[in-house]
Amino acid sequence: MARKLAAGNWKMNGTRAALAELAAIADATKDASADILICPPATLVSAAAETVSGSKVAIGGQDCHAANSGAHTGDLSAEMLKDAGATAVILGHSERRTDHGETDIIVRAKTEAAQAQGLVAVVCIGETLDEREAGDTLKVAGSQLAGSLPDGIIGENTVVAYEPVWAIGTGKVPTLEQIGEVHDFLRAELVARFGDAIGNAIPLLYGGSVKPGNAAEIFGVSNVDGALVGGASLKAADFGPIAAAL
Ligand code: PEP
Repeated sequence: MARKLAAGNWKMNGTRAALAELAAIADATKDASADILICPPATLVSAAAETVSGSKVAIGGQDCHAANSGAHTGDLSAEMLKDAGATAVILGHSERRTDHGETDIIVRAKTEAAQAQGLVAVVCIGETLDEREAGDTLKVAGSQLAGSLPDGIIGENTVVAYEPVWAIGTGKVPTLEQIGEVHDFLRAELVARFGDAIGNAIPLLYGGSVKPGNAAEIFGVSNVDGALVGGASLKAADFGPIAAAL
């Protein structure tokens, strides 16, 4: 069975003042049975890792370059994130795919780089509204999954987050049946490609407008092992109850 994980994506939010809220999140999640991951902006990774030291909260990045070092102005490598105290990194978030033209090939290369450094890769996939309305959800999710995951992954270093693009930051959430359909499909695809042991060990997170009020019912859906949470991960008062529901 896959481990449970409540992950927060702070996106481009937070200065050092937000470290107090991170400490509150560590306190609010101290009794959670799930693993907890918070991914602040890169400027805060080092200080965030110090802030949560001794708690059950792990710190992750929101992206990394596929190379370890070199002439890539403005980019960060997986090695740098690890050096700053991160143990995981979000890769292929739809905002990276849209804003920075990241393709499955790029996401796969980044995933390989992250895992080579011992980071857990939280690989994001998900359909747009047009793709869902065209009936292409499973085709898109399957193709992104196949293209974004490298061979040789293991359950310990890989997390897949299904995030319908139209549900991110919109307050719109798929029905529980729709979430279950995609998660069951993704689980079957993972097992078919990586075998029973690895395919069943990879946590499948749902992401897209998860809030304290809908977390428990989403976590009750088959093959949902947790959530990747954006807006509601910024406040302990929201993220604490979400983690507790897992
Ligand atoms: C996200 O950014 O990954 C996300 C799911 O955002 P939100 O929870 O705000 O929809």
